[in-house]
Amino acid sequence: MVDADQTFVIVGGGLAGAKAAETLRTEGFTGRVILICDERDHPYERPPLSKGYLLGKEPRESVFVHEPAWYAQNDVELHLGQTVDAVDRAAKTVRFGDDGTLVHYDKLLLATGAEPRRLDIPGTDLAGVHHLRRIAHAERLKGVLAALGRDNGHILIAGAGWIGLEIAAAAREYGAEVTVVEPEPTPLHGVLGPELGNVFAELHRDHGVRFRFGVRLTEIVGQDGMVLAARTDDGEEHPAHDVLAAIGAAPRTALAEAAGLRLADRAHGGGVAVDASLRTSDPDIFAAGDVASFPLGLFDTTLRVEHWANALNGGPVAARAMLGQDVAYDRVPYFFTDQYDLGMEYSGWAPPGTYDEVVIRGDAGKREFIAFWLREGRVLAGMNVNVWDVTEAIQKLIRSGVRVDADALAAPHVPLDGLAP
Ligand SMILES: Cc1cc2nc3c(=O)[nH]c(=O)nc-3n(C[C@H](O)[C@H](O)[C@H](O)COP(=O)(O)OP(=O)(O)OC[C@H]3O[C@@H](n4cnc5c(N)ncnc54)[C@H](O)[C@@H]3O)c2cc1C
Repeated sequence: MVDADQTFVIVGGGLAGAKAAETLRTEGFTGRVILICDERDHPYERPPLSKGYLLGKEPRESVFVHEPAWYAQNDVELHLGQTVDAVDRAAKTVRFGDDGTLVHYDKLLLATGAEPRRLDIPGTDLAGVHHLRRIAHAERLKGVLAALGRDNGHILIAGAGWIGLEIAAAAREYGAEVTVVEPEPTPLHGVLGPELGNVFAELHRDHGVRFRFGVRLTEIVGQDGMVLAARTDDGEEHPAHDVLAAIGAAPRTALAEAAGLRLADRAHGGGVAVDASLRTSDPDIFAAGDVASFPLGLFDTTLRVEHWANALNGGPVAARAMLGQDVAYDRVPYFFTDQYDLGMEYSGWAPPGTYDEVVIRGDAGKREFIAFWLREGRVLAGMNVNVWDVTEAIQKLIRSGVRVDADALAAPHVPLDGLAP
């Protein structure tokens, strides 16, 4: 039973942390809610940073999770621009800020997210080498892309994952020349496999992006702080005035690790290990969003998911668990992307090695289709590209675990709803 004497502390003011704070209040919690974040901005959503906001089509105000006044109105004590550097589990305190302020918690949520992985090659300290995670990065990158577009300049992007490709699309819209370097043979290889990765390679080639697959960056060449070129391990030199490293993100687990909480192994994302109610190895500490590795019974695995919907839905589940409710986080993983005129949603989990068949419904050439990944006739994942309002039906198919007829799945006139019981 919780009451007004309790203090719940949230570390990390991204989407997971902000949604958890909101849920504590909507569920009627009357105790103290303290949210501490090392960023100076109010909690915001990151997807626009590589899309509408980066392109200057969405205003700054549109990225925030709540209006600034919401926090005071809901009695959420915000400490922005303050880093939590220690959790003392025995004393039940967290320490934050330059003066080492200690605050007691009854329940603690770690929603510390992830940070961009760095390139470990010569030249990464040049001023023209960028990452994209924070709003300030997006503001800087906006200026860079606009200048490259104006001056016929060239950006080299390391990594053909979601963020690398979205920035490639934005850079082309600004008119910059773009080369993408990717060690795998296709874009998004680890998520989509080779069959569907090529759809994205073709999309970008049609918009003038050059790809170099199967090679790694070895050096960024510069002078007086400026990027001049980049080299790959096949001996080639590529033109570049700026470089963007989009080689993935690492969960921010340092705090949890120092506090002696159990971490998941790398094969399971290396995040803070939680159970189905998002509780860590300490019963009073929870974790949600990009930082948490959670069990997903549907796929009989443990996953760390770096996607918006996981923060949106995981934060509230953690908040309910903090309130003592009997909850389980069992959503089908979901994410989306927008690149040029292609909009896509993906539900499920089917990395290479887990599926034995890919079924296409619609016209992949026209980029208007649904792709399904199956194992032994059962749908593991579905991706709808420029086809809308099918997510619910796809997720129902995945959840049902039934064997489906591949011909019926591929036939656009057969309703998806009819394929699952
Ligand atoms: C550019 C970009 C585009 C994206 N686009 C999409 C998309 O199209 N679709 C999609 O599904 N997903 C997308 N994502 C992923 C999605 O934004 C993330 O999954 C989501 O932000 C995770 O939210 P979170 O709250 O777990 O973590 P975060 O948003 O990372 O928030 C964690 C916060 O905690 C702070 N913090 C960390 N440690 C401490 C500490 N010790 N003390 C205080 N504060 C701390 C961090 O600085 C950060 O502010 C995108 C991500 C990026 C970066």
